[in-house]
Amino acid sequence: MGLWVFGVVGVVLLVAVFLARRGGANEPHSFVCSACMQVHPFREIRVLPWWNASVQSVLTSFRCAACFPASVRETREVIATLDNAQRESFLEFLRNHKLDELAAQVEATDAVGARAPLGRFLDEIERGERKLGV
Ligand SMILES: [Zn+2]
Repeated sequence: MGLWVFGVVGVVLLVAVFLARRGGANEPHSFVCSACMQVHPFREIRVLPWWNASVQSVLTSFRCAACFPASVRETREVIATLDNAQRESFLEFLRNHKLDELAAQVEATDAVGARAPLGRFLDEIERGERKLGV
């Protein structure tokens, strides 16, 4: 067996590493849904604001297709009875996502006045018209 065999193996390994990196460098292949805690393909991820009562904060939440509708309903219920602390937390959420226009609308009003623009925002997320970054 000559040294050329090692050369061929080396080239094959380099090509394999290149293909593996090209396939998944920027986008993960999968994610864990934060409701059912199961692994799903990344292309199915749905991102939405969700009120976590235990930490009293609106969090960027990742849901699979099956869990997404129930989570939208829960966020809608929070918005329907939005209080001052929840409005503040929504404001922080919007600023973190660079949604400055909507943040300005929410900031310009009180908790009751913020319910309508936040409800429209959630409608857009539900219909897939607005996509939040992960
Ligand atoms: Zn799920």
